[in-house]
Amino acid sequence: MSMRVAVVGGGIGGLALGAGLRRSGYEVAVFDRDTDVAATGGYHITLDQRAQSALERLVAPEIVRRLLASGSALRMRDRDAFWDRRGRLLGHGPDLTGSASIDVDRITLRTLLAEAVGEDLHLGREVSGVDQRGTPRVTFTDGTSVTADLVVGADGTHSVVARHLAAGPTSRPAGIIGFSGRTRRTDLSPAEQQRLGLRSSMAIGPRGAALYIGYLDPVGNAALDAPELRMSVTTGPTYIWGAMFPESARTDALRDLSGARSQGALLDRFRDQGWAEHVLEVIARADPSSVAAFRFNAASTRAADLVPWNASRITALGDAVHATPPTAGMGAGAAIRDAADLLHHLDATTEATLIEAITRYEARMRERGAEILTTAMKTVRLILATDTTLGAAATTVATPLLAAAARLRR
Ligand SMILES: Cc1cc2nc3c(=O)[nH]c(=O)nc-3n(C[C@H](O)[C@H](O)[C@H](O)COP(=O)(O)OP(=O)(O)OC[C@H]3O[C@@H](n4cnc5c(N)ncnc54)[C@H](O)[C@@H]3O)c2cc1C
Repeated sequence: MSMRVAVVGGGIGGLALGAGLRRSGYEVAVFDRDTDVAATGGYHITLDQRAQSALERLVAPEIVRRLLASGSALRMRDRDAFWDRRGRLLGHGPDLTGSASIDVDRITLRTLLAEAVGEDLHLGREVSGVDQRGTPRVTFTDGTSVTADLVVGADGTHSVVARHLAAGPTSRPAGIIGFSGRTRRTDLSPAEQQRLGLRSSMAIGPRGAALYIGYLDPVGNAALDAPELRMSVTTGPTYIWGAMFPESARTDALRDLSGARSQGALLDRFRDQGWAEHVLEVIARADPSSVAAFRFNAASTRAADLVPWNASRITALGDAVHATPPTAGMGAGAAIRDAADLLHHLDATTEATLIEAITRYEARMRERGAEILTTAMKTVRLILATDTTLGAAATTVATPLLAAAARLRR
């Protein structure tokens, strides 16, 4: 059916949808408040086999090839390692040689998707509201508006569109504050390079402190060996780490810090909790400008709670509906799968059956959202559990709980 679609938000899901709609001949406009797609925060995004298959349905093969040439293949990494706060090895994750997943820089992924959307992406357009009396309408903060046959809210965790549909917020703080940063492997001492290895790691200490260290090497571990197509922002072996703490009055103060001040405060907090200095080297030697704090937000893990509205000509996808903490590495993949599924349902519809198609799409999105949230929240709950008296005792003794964490993360 010929249709005009307005997509609010040009993050990963909105751009993936815009690219797919454009490629299928729809009239589409994607609006994002950012003025430059590459000037965005973010570290790496994991795309599993399902997310990659969805992308293949949305963008041209050439874009997929460039993405793979810029992605770091998990199958080329050694098994993940699990540590205690003193850097003692507690165990390993599963063998990754059969994994089809890749890690790709968020900036690279967004830039490639934006290229696929081309002139249908409109930057510097901040949306203030949507309205569905008669024809769906999107209003911008500059007072202008556009109408469309279908509006899709792909505007992320604090979505204006989903908030309108649900008549309230669709997610809430998950109780954890995170800090991320990137550290080049060669900036670490030889001993730490040796300990951390060519693999990702996780350490959970008592009192809810956790440190995830992801290993990314889009050059040495390229998912597709085609250097001429490579456009990764990360150009050598890099640890992209995430430190996590339960939210409290004390962490509130940390939230407003950034750069070197945030890095210093973070190190102090780990030291207060008895973490060994060498374990903290990966934080201490990070590029200070890469260190930033963010709050974990989560929607409900129950499918029945997601999409609490009746289908209409305004719908949503991705974090707008099922905001997911990064602990499962599945949020972006789910947004891309939402986009592919919505396109699939639209392709088979007519003007008369549009609402039925949206109903079916939203039902599947509910299931998808609940699945990834359940996985992501297992790690969040585990981290929060170590903040209890019993949890603190257990993590001091450590091994069983961390072994459980190793299993839960997969
Ligand atoms: C800056 C940033 C950094 C991130 N870093 C990571 C990371 O390192 N690792 C990870 O796993 N996940 C990260 N994420 C989350 C991950 O990108 C999302 O979970 C995933 O991509 C879901 O995609 P989405 O399209 O639903 O939302 P997002 O990719 O979050 O996109 C939402 C988009 O909507 C735009 N937007 C929001 N409100 C408005 C408005 N009112 N008007 C116009 N535009 C609006 C935003 O500018 C943004 O581009 C990050 C997200 C952001 C926004």
